Amino acid sequence: MSSGEVPLKNHRKELFCQHYVGCFNASEAARKAGYSQKTAGSQGARLLKDVAVQERVAFLQSENAKALELDTADVLERWTTLALADPNELISHIVGSCRHCHGKGFKYQWRDQDEFEDHHQAWSDLPEKARDSMREPSNAGGYGYRFRREPNIECPQCDGFGRQRTVAHDTTRLSPAAKTLYAGVKETQHGIEIKMEDRAAALNNIARTLGMFAKDNERTLSPGDKLQEWYETFSQNGSRAPIQPQKETPPK
Ligand SMILES: [Zn+2]
Repeated sequence: MSSGEVPLKNHRKELFCQHYVGCFNASEAARKAGYSQKTAGSQGARLLKDVAVQERVAFLQSENAKALELDTADVLERWTTLALADPNELISHIVGSCRHCHGKGFKYQWRDQDEFEDHHQAWSDLPEKARDSMREPSNAGGYGYRFRREPNIECPQCDGFGRQRTVAHDTTRLSPAAKTLYAGVKETQHGIEIKMEDRAAALNNIARTLGMFAKDNERTLSPGDKLQEWYETFSQNGSRAPIQPQKETPPK
């Protein structure tokens, strides 16, 4: 067992060491350890010359440094996960084909015969007056409409821009990375709003912690080359969490 590893037998001395590594002020540490206000200054100075105290303080300092390094690595890992998370896992803006893109002769295309027949029936059930004002549904464009097909550049209805759809995904099935990004859902009068944590801020925090802004900021922490190396490996490999493919529910 190395020197300094064992708590000092003298309780007040031990307390002094514990407090000293918290504040690095000998008088304050002495006062907190129970030495009188009057003598705290001189006692503190005397204690710092004590070899046992010096060894104990050195040991406690190294323990603190180890703990700090672990904390920094942990925090950095969380930030990195957040910064690299894919917002598409939470919400996607998808462009798909319009109803005319792949219809025969670019006419309205139904999903299937059932869909057509339902609409035709609804039209037939209308009062005569209303029916006259609406065109009879036609299946001339055929069946097989799927939103997820590519828009057709030749489509005269959409000019190949298709239709757009914003889809919020099931937040209970997110990858661990996307979970760090997800900050809750808010129901508004216009629908739901998916809230996300700030990825840019996370990236900024990482850069600051790794000392990338060292010239601008004298107080930047420098956790050392090991962390730098770790971060480089981590960012090359991307998120440790697997990105799960999402299934789309086709539009109605
Ligand atoms: Zn189209």
